[in-house]
Amino acid sequence: FFSVIMAVEGSKKVFDAEEASLLVKELRGTFASGRTRSYEWRISQLKALLKLADDNEQQVADALNSDLSKPQLESIVYEIALLKNSCKAALKELKHWMTPEKAKTSITTFPSSAEIVPEPLGVVLVISAWNYPFLLSLDPIIGAIAAGNAVVLKPSEIAPATSSLLAKLVGEYMDGSFIRVVEGAVAETSALLEQKWDKIFYTGNGRVGRIVMAAAAKHLTPVLLELGGKSPVVVDSDINLQVATRRIIAGKWCCNNGQACISPDYIITTKAYAPKLVDALKNELGTFYGKNPLESKDLSRVVNSNHFARLTKLLDEDKVSGKIIHGGERDESKLRIAPTILLDVPRDSLIMTEEIFGPLLPIITVEKLEESFDIINSGTKPLAAYLFTNNKKLKERFVMSVTAGGLVVNDTTLHLAVDTLPFGGVGESGVGAYHGKFSFDAFSHKKAVLYRSFIGDAAVRYPPYTNGKVGL
Ligand code: NAD
Repeated sequence: FFSVIMAVEGSKKVFDAEEASLLVKELRGTFASGRTRSYEWRISQLKALLKLADDNEQQVADALNSDLSKPQLESIVYEIALLKNSCKAALKELKHWMTPEKAKTSITTFPSSAEIVPEPLGVVLVISAWNYPFLLSLDPIIGAIAAGNAVVLKPSEIAPATSSLLAKLVGEYMDGSFIRVVEGAVAETSALLEQKWDKIFYTGNGRVGRIVMAAAAKHLTPVLLELGGKSPVVVDSDINLQVATRRIIAGKWCCNNGQACISPDYIITTKAYAPKLVDALKNELGTFYGKNPLESKDLSRVVNSNHFARLTKLLDEDKVSGKIIHGGERDESKLRIAPTILLDVPRDSLIMTEEIFGPLLPIITVEKLEESFDIINSGTKPLAAYLFTNNKKLKERFVMSVTAGGLVVNDTTLHLAVDTLPFGGVGESGVGAYHGKFSFDAFSHKKAVLYRSFIGDAAVRYPPYTNGKVGL
């Protein structure tokens, strides 16, 4: 029956804890049938998901444009194509992922053999965020399906057009006996969080991450938390400045206008090099977005007025407002803020202590670049960190000493597109990781299986425990 549950606040039917409980009960019942465990079911659902993305590219791009004014190219490349690639990789690798892994045994169990058998966790919940609302909703579902789970998706209410499109399309394309969408905001998510799940996969901010983890703890439910943080970019002087600048801009403003979890949050460079870097950034921004970036169709808008107010508060703080050296223009009626660069902002300012998640880019300067690694490590652990350099020693020190979810040398954000790398945070930036095989693993239990025969039964393990048995 219901393949999609619409929970619209204020309408007759509100999705409450009772309905959430019925939904979970129903999915537990269908999951117990064992159908999701078969290779064929998993493949059929991965194909259905791929078809969903293939058939509806324009509808998805339109929804993303309605929610975020997201440029068509960014929607196609960073949401739809990434999802399709992820789906294709899972289709190609699934057999291999599902194959039990042989494990070595020891003399203690001789003679024996052992294997690690991946099995689905059961009924899982995916709660996603608004900034890449198509990709971040469906990419975790690839892992959940590949691993053979039943799944409930709760998209973000802050991207309402994409949320309702997801509810419609998942209802049309996917097997509704096992895969459901619940739309809604805090009340509906809270109702879902009261239930016992076999895993909760949450993407969003750390404050809600804590709510999710506390709710999960009541049922001893494991969580995967994809959170955010302040992802730094360290810029050396020994670089191809134009390429570096373009790649910083690509990770910042070309990624949803800075509203991306791995967008560069701030730059660290030397006092001596900062003027050159600033000039290069200004030049390239001019080339990309023209003289009036507030009118550019190639920049997403700020998602809503709450986030607009949050960002302007960062910009208007007394000790920060004088530090704007480029941009700063805003149009509240259109929720637009121009790409903005700030130089030498105080380290204790709001903009340097909160995740920015928008089009503002502060640069802090140091005497010696080596200081930057200590600055990064003195804050909370970021989701990503970037370094631009040709210096081999500096690269090595960066990789060995900087802690972050992921690192990229001489580019930004692209580690996300390499599905042989785990994508996830550490500390405040998240718990666990996904993408490629890591997604399959995130939604699987690795069952340990030991096989023994009846030969070689050692009397030493049985009482009476005589001294002779322990060699005394
Ligand atoms: P959001 O506001 O869309 O919230 C995320 C989800 O949490 C939504 O589905 C929402 O309904 C739910 N939610 C909100 N308040 C809740 C509450 N009180 N109780 C229960 N559920 C609640 O997204 P956001 O948090 O603004 O997203 C931005 C943050 O997410 C940034 O910190 C960003 O870095 C991070 N992020 C991380 C990744 C990643 O992959 N690591 C990706 C995107 C965003």
